[in-house]
Amino acid sequence: MNKKFNNEIITGICVDLSSEGKGVVKDKEKVIFVDGLFPGEEVEVEIMYSRAKVYFGRVKKLLKISKDRIEPKCQVCTACGGCQFQQLAYMQQLKYKTNKVKNDLERIGHLSVCVSNCVGMDAPYNYRNKIQVPIGYDKAHHIVSGFYRENSHEIIPIKGCAIEDIRSENILTNIKRLMPLYHLRPYEEDKGRGEVRHVLIRTSYYKKEVMVVLVLTVDTFPGQNNFIKELIKACPEITTVVFNINKRRTNVILGEQEKIVYGSGFILDKLCDLSFRISSKSFYQINPIQCEKLYKIAIENAKLNKEDTILDAYCGIGTIGLVASKEVNKVIGVEINKDAIKDAINNARANNITNAQFICDDANHFMQLAKLDKTKIDVVFLDPPRSGSDENFLNAMMELAPKKIIYISCNPATLARDLNHLNPKYEIASVQPVDMFPFTAHVETVALLVLKDFKK
Ligand code: SAH
Repeated sequence: MNKKFNNEIITGICVDLSSEGKGVVKDKEKVIFVDGLFPGEEVEVEIMYSRAKVYFGRVKKLLKISKDRIEPKCQVCTACGGCQFQQLAYMQQLKYKTNKVKNDLERIGHLSVCVSNCVGMDAPYNYRNKIQVPIGYDKAHHIVSGFYRENSHEIIPIKGCAIEDIRSENILTNIKRLMPLYHLRPYEEDKGRGEVRHVLIRTSYYKKEVMVVLVLTVDTFPGQNNFIKELIKACPEITTVVFNINKRRTNVILGEQEKIVYGSGFILDKLCDLSFRISSKSFYQINPIQCEKLYKIAIENAKLNKEDTILDAYCGIGTIGLVASKEVNKVIGVEINKDAIKDAINNARANNITNAQFICDDANHFMQLAKLDKTKIDVVFLDPPRSGSDENFLNAMMELAPKKIIYISCNPATLARDLNHLNPKYEIASVQPVDMFPFTAHVETVALLVLKDFKK
């Protein structure tokens, strides 16, 4: 439960950044977390609320400004909660990310390893190839799209988001313009009424294709074909439109049922010279430029050879395994999402790759079977979701004893936990953070682990 505070104001100095990228201010026994505040800055903070003895505040007045503070490109950056670092110089963001990985490895993983400097992006704006925004009303009952204010269901309208693909803006504007003409209303969760819940837009970086997914509470609506026609006319860059039907009263964004109403139902993109098909529900890395750098580092570190069988665990649409496939004898990919596996199989075929096999299964379940079968796996690429891998998966993998593990992680805390688990058997040979998410506090990391008794 959040406890509200009425205008309690304290004056203090920001001493650090938290693991969520919030400025940390200490006042006697209170620790206050503040968005858009950076180390060294002196500030008047208004305490907004507390949760489990942790206090959250906002900047009331900046008394001393850090030399690393920059002018934000986005006007709602502190309210939106999507970007923690819109006002922090890019070099400092990279430093923060390198340190975050180092600190988590030390604090959580009890590992003292050398962490290389975070690999940055040359032009770190407008990189996001996927946006997913709620549609709602503002106070004047205008239709708006944006992001939820932190800890609330109030939509903060956003125009010209600094990190998303610039093509998204025009599409959203046209959807909102057309909605009233077709009697489409935003979904109002509390009243349980309205038709349009969310809009999801996926853009292809190299192939110039765009997918629009309308998340609706209805299967169909009057004038639907004309709505789509008008939308395509206004935004000819759209190559496919999908309706996702979600009638449930839930926070989960996507429903089970989908209808392709225009085009193929997927987009094509290129990555490391291969072509990939991506459907609405499949996971795909959101920063195509940095993703190529990430995969290159991961595959180069692995020093693969032609006899190797590699496992691409948590493989999504098969990207890492397929990019590595020409260097090895065999690729096995495992992934729980059946749409992603369908995409992976198609991606192998479309790129004429014949040495890759994709299995739809829980990675842990797959690994237990592989352990029993003593499946030959020389190198594992491991790229789990934020929650990290599973202890049973890690134990089974250690029994199979691949000579190398390349752990790709989007959460340094769970990476640290899992590396600690693997460390008795594996040496941590390198740790390379990569900035996949500029202007946010998130960081991606590639760690190379080498079997301790493997001599080569
Ligand atoms: N390697 C891919 C995807 C990484 S994201 C890429 O680089 O694009 C993590 C993936 O793990 C997602 O596709 C998700 O669907 C999958 N996943 C989540 N839990 C899983 C589990 N228990 N078993 C297998 N796959 C899982």
